[in-house]
Amino acid sequence: MSTKLTIIGGGVSGLAAGIYAQMSGLDSEIFEGHSVIGGQCTSWKRRGFHIDNCVHWMTGTSPNKEIYQVWKDVGVIGDGCPMIAHEYFLQVDIDGVKGHAWRDLDRMEAELLTIAPEDKKVIHDLIKAIRNFRNIELPALKPKEQMTFMDNMRLLWKMRKAIPVAVKYGKMTIGDLAQMFQSPVIRQIIHNYVPETYFAISTLYMYAMFSAGNADLPLGGSDSITLRMRDRYLQLGGKISTKKKATSIDIEGSRCRRVNFEDGTNVEVEDLICATDISVTFKLIGEQYIDKHFKFCYDNPEKFPVFSNLNVYYAVDQPTNDIPTMEIFNCEPYTVGGREVKTVIVNNFADQPNFAPEGKGILEVLVVQYDHQYDYWDRLYADREAYRAEKERVAQEVLTRLERHYPQYTGKLTVLESVTPKSFNRFTGAYKGAYMGFIQTHLVKKETHSGILPGLDNLYLAGQWLQTPGGLPNALVTGRFAVQRLLKRKNLLHLFCTQKT
Ligand SMILES: Cc1cc2nc3c(=O)[nH]c(=O)nc-3n(C[C@H](O)[C@H](O)[C@H](O)COP(=O)(O)OP(=O)(O)OC[C@H]3O[C@@H](n4cnc5c(N)ncnc54)[C@H](O)[C@@H]3O)c2cc1C
Repeated sequence: MSTKLTIIGGGVSGLAAGIYAQMSGLDSEIFEGHSVIGGQCTSWKRRGFHIDNCVHWMTGTSPNKEIYQVWKDVGVIGDGCPMIAHEYFLQVDIDGVKGHAWRDLDRMEAELLTIAPEDKKVIHDLIKAIRNFRNIELPALKPKEQMTFMDNMRLLWKMRKAIPVAVKYGKMTIGDLAQMFQSPVIRQIIHNYVPETYFAISTLYMYAMFSAGNADLPLGGSDSITLRMRDRYLQLGGKISTKKKATSIDIEGSRCRRVNFEDGTNVEVEDLICATDISVTFKLIGEQYIDKHFKFCYDNPEKFPVFSNLNVYYAVDQPTNDIPTMEIFNCEPYTVGGREVKTVIVNNFADQPNFAPEGKGILEVLVVQYDHQYDYWDRLYADREAYRAEKERVAQEVLTRLERHYPQYTGKLTVLESVTPKSFNRFTGAYKGAYMGFIQTHLVKKETHSGILPGLDNLYLAGQWLQTPGGLPNALVTGRFAVQRLLKRKNLLHLFCTQKT
């Protein structure tokens, strides 16, 4: 049996879909618009330094979780795939007082109690909540409509300790949770680098996954994810065509018939998985296909905001093993995209070999940006000189704060690269440059999309926008789910993963 499957988009979701298609005996081809695969999970070189665009933590590194199996299937985890397991997720330094989100929760509790004995009760509750939330499970093996009663019961049983945490903190934002503490250090640990309008449970989730050993970092960073996936796909007989930007999809009746590319070529379609940003998918098939779910999200940006980053990369003219792997410190306020920022969030790649030339280091500074800041960068981009000048101004503002905080680097920092929300949009088509899907606020109920659109019989969706909160794990599992949905619709579900090698 050979069923021809066309996949548009070669990010994590498209690659996952391709791998599972091949593992199930389908004959698939991925068409990627860019010159390289990987989508948002990518890297590039600047003046001998390695710029890693994506991974700071990867959920699914614990063998106890369902998603581990999926990372293993796609070749990212397992023998010969080394991981970095940091002792702490981040260090926070507020006016010289330091606190950590430690992997060891007893150590974290003890340190927080020393910093803020006045917060004793809430610290205890917080650590208990993180500990219990380790039992949360992202359903990764079957899409929700294919889960049986017993599957659901098993999942609920596994998550029985996490459910009361979700109930207790479910209506709170990160800002609400942070306000329960008097200590500014603990407030910042709770804020982390996540927008304060996010559900409070996203912080609990992050620390729960990290402390359970379920959110480590692949050695080699983002490339080690996508290049391993690419290799696995090719080994399974898949085909990748790059520089194939789709411009439209011809639809006849209820079927997608043809994908047309920017270079004037086209491909006839039997079955189609769109693993592009969902806003791109709707441009390709036509806005009349935007379903109720996405229409509601796009029409209610105050309930479904998005966020992105301005990332600035600095070369350091000495190794950087003397500073934390991730640190957030407070600083003199500065403005980015019209938004006042009072902290610097630094990611240090010292433990990733070959990211910097011998004797040097590379730092990444993350500045959170929301919808309004995307609009700001988008408008500014029309005037390239002003756009470049503003990127440089921000990079220099941050540089002076880095030198103040790390005086040993004074005169040794050089700006390598600034990436704005507009850059993410330009290079991958990301809606407003967003990289985690919609921020599900406490105003709206958490939703998981069905991955199919009414009126289209041979189109399946994959990608980070389909499931809260987005990110790599959701991109990954929606690729798998798209293939399961396709097989189910064709009455071929029994073939799923039968060609595993
Ligand atoms: C700065 C940053 C940091 C991040 N950190 C983390 C992290 O620490 N942990 C985590 O879990 N997640 C993180 N993420 C999020 C993660 O990278 C994304 O959620 C994930 O990679 C999305 O995968 P995707 O396949 O859904 O979409 P994408 O990566 O956007 O893939 C879509 C692909 O489709 C292609 N495409 C678009 N339009 C067309 C077209 N017309 N024709 C053909 N191809 C097209 C694009 O080029 C792209 O390759 C981060 C993202 C960023 C940007």
